[in-house]
Amino acid sequence: MTHTGLLALEFRRVLLSMAVGVACWIAMGNPYIGAAAALLMLLSLWGWQLSRLYRWFANPDEMPPLGDAAVRGILRDVYLLRSRGLAQETVTPDSRGYRDDSIGSLREAAMIVNSRSELLWCNDAAEYLLNIELAEEEGNRLSNLLPGKALTKYMRKENFQKPLRFRPGSDPEYCLQFEFSRFGASDRLVFIKDVSEQDKLERMRRDFVGNVSHELRTPLTVIKGYIETLPSLMSERDARLQKPLASMETQVTRMENLIADLLWLAQIETVEGERKEDLVDVCALLSSVAAELRSAWPDRDIALHLISVRRLLGDERELHSAISNLVVNALKYSVTGPVSVKWLDSAVGPVLIVEDEGLGIAAKHIPRLTERFYRVDTSRSQEVGGTGLGLAIVKHVAVSHEAKLFVESQLGEGSCFRVVFPSSRCADPD
Ligand code: ADP
Repeated sequence: MTHTGLLALEFRRVLLSMAVGVACWIAMGNPYIGAAAALLMLLSLWGWQLSRLYRWFANPDEMPPLGDAAVRGILRDVYLLRSRGLAQETVTPDSRGYRDDSIGSLREAAMIVNSRSELLWCNDAAEYLLNIELAEEEGNRLSNLLPGKALTKYMRKENFQKPLRFRPGSDPEYCLQFEFSRFGASDRLVFIKDVSEQDKLERMRRDFVGNVSHELRTPLTVIKGYIETLPSLMSERDARLQKPLASMETQVTRMENLIADLLWLAQIETVEGERKEDLVDVCALLSSVAAELRSAWPDRDIALHLISVRRLLGDERELHSAISNLVVNALKYSVTGPVSVKWLDSAVGPVLIVEDEGLGIAAKHIPRLTERFYRVDTSRSQEVGGTGLGLAIVKHVAVSHEAKLFVESQLGEGSCFRVVFPSSRCADPD
């Protein structure tokens, strides 16, 4: 209720009392009796409202009294303030019980640990999944409940962006996924899921692709051998076979590249969660990739800008394959023009940049580029010997090095691929 609204209502009440006073004056013929009646009327109206207000204050669980409009406005505001206060009181004194009840009713296993990873609380589902009793384990460290280096290292790093998959115990099929989130001063809420089935299916898919690719290698090598030796055995009359044989050779080479990429991708996936801590001299690596590619593409300009000298903790072979896939793409998808490769420092960490002035990519394709076998232009990709797996490999290598891949491109103007590594992967200080 506004201030002026209140004043208007009070003014009406005074007018009413004055009217009663004037009526008494006329009836009794005495102005003093009229004034006393008006005053009495005003005081009793206020007294009556005040007494109802005090009664409600004494018993706040009741609805506020419905006074006239002036008091009703004040009462409604007081009532709202009061109910908010009551609601807070309900949560504050026993907020721990409230929290335990709400998270305890979750079907997903949840626990709360402090900054020293000591168990503060867990729900029934977590007790069941981890086969523990909260009463016995409260205060115990998570690393004692679930021994294994991966979990300890993950918690020490305090980077909870990606969930952790972890195999506790000796059963290789049993796999748990932990998702940590910080809350309060320094506590962590941990959700735990049994992902054994999902993990098994992913492993089966990886093994299947790996095995098929591996099995295809031997027959392909034999076929390629015959295709290569046949021309030397052919007579002049068989010259018309030369074109089909050349085409067979091209296709066999494509299949070989495809199998090599599939096997490599399966291998990278298998070791994705493993430690990658070789000390990689990125400047030397970039120089050697550039030298290899300059000899394969002698008429192209590959410009190196090695501004940072920082070395990375990672897997040299994986980094080599990611870099060469990016540079080969830059060469393949630009007919002429230079390809620039940069290694720079940024505020977040070192950055690898591969830029070209080639065909470019329409914005709608960019989000899907790292999907396996996604091609912007299938015929162009096949023409230049693409397998459709190059950027999938780059993405996997980036993820397993905690790096992020960014793509910027303008159709017809060129593309820029940036891989931003976290400073935590650097062996050298800033
Ligand atoms: P591919 O083996 O077909 O090159 P990739 O996974 O390496 O497969 O790349 C996926 C698709 O992204 C390519 O088919 C191509 O259309 C597009 N692409 C990749 N790099 C570039 C680039 N530098 N310029 C233009 N298009 C590119």
